[in-house]
Amino acid sequence: RQGVVVITGASSGLGLAAAKALAETGKWHVVMACRDFLKAAKAAKGAGMAEGSYTIMHLDLASLDSVRQFVDNFHRAGMPLDSLVCNAAIYRPTARTPTFTADGYEMSVGVNHLGHFLLARLLLHDLDKSDYPSRRLIILGSITGNTNTLAGNIPPKAGLGDLRGLAGGLRGQNGSAMIDGSESFDGAKAYKDSKICNMLTMQELHRRYHEETGITFASLYPGCIATTGLFREHIPLFRLLFPPFQKFITKGFVSEAESGKRLAQVVSDPSLTKSGVYWSWNKDSASFENQLSKEASDPEKARKLWELSEKLVGLA
Ligand code: NDP
Repeated sequence: RQGVVVITGASSGLGLAAAKALAETGKWHVVMACRDFLKAAKAAKGAGMAEGSYTIMHLDLASLDSVRQFVDNFHRAGMPLDSLVCNAAIYRPTARTPTFTADGYEMSVGVNHLGHFLLARLLLHDLDKSDYPSRRLIILGSITGNTNTLAGNIPPKAGLGDLRGLAGGLRGQNGSAMIDGSESFDGAKAYKDSKICNMLTMQELHRRYHEETGITFASLYPGCIATTGLFREHIPLFRLLFPPFQKFITKGFVSEAESGKRLAQVVSDPSLTKSGVYWSWNKDSASFENQLSKEASDPEKARKLWELSEKLVGLA
């Protein structure tokens, strides 16, 4: 039978490119889990995805109720779940004041980490039940959260500290909107911190569930896709210069189509079944197991993050 893959944030950029790449193989039915139904419908049509090769379902990761509703709707649709890709993200690089999710959590960590944390936990059982030969749960990571790389050392650097801001609920009022508890808000750092959370969560899922369920848990850095909507809130000059800078200076640039193929590989390639891995690609577009920074692979921090996140999303 065809595999069924749920991809969050499949209405643009990497998520859309991966949705297209998987649907085109004919081996996958793609559930596009998106906050803007019309935008997703237009995007799928515009990308030339064949009717019947995908289903759009509403999911707003900035609301935990919406995450729960999505899971109910997915169950009602009666489809199996063979692969889940936590891809959606927001990035507010120039923001100096926080915005908040429906549940009152700082938006970058709320959407990129907490929404996905709840989604992954609620859908784990479905992955476990599936009879598909290789079931996978993939969470997008990034080089920017990895301080063992050059890009990860561009200030502001990621850092969760002792997670005191998260423990306080990331509310901003009478507390901090930043995970490390700092008083001032920095949108760029909040995004990088959320990506560390994504990579720690993947490893904690692996430690807790891989042996028992056989599910493959993986993360990846798809390369710098300098043209996606992720940079929509950056200053215009940055948006103009960033793609050529990545193309000609750092040579880290990848097209949306190439990045989509990479993510599709992590979903379906028979050779990428190893669990607990953070995949990257070299200059010849060959995949390899990459190293995470000390903080992004700290098991004690991962456990603490897991426990605090459970409380914030109402699982504990
Ligand atoms: P885009 O901005 O193009 O896509 C992000 C997607 O997330 C969009 O579909 C967006 O929806 C969706 N989204 C945002 N907020 C929510 C929400 N509240 N609920 C549901 N969906 C939401 O970015 P990219 O394709 O570049 O990023 C995809 C992933 O790749 C991210 O996890 C990012 O961290 C990662 N990544 C990207 C890199 C890059 O260079 N671009 C490098 C490394 C990692 P909408 O269309 O409605 O706005």
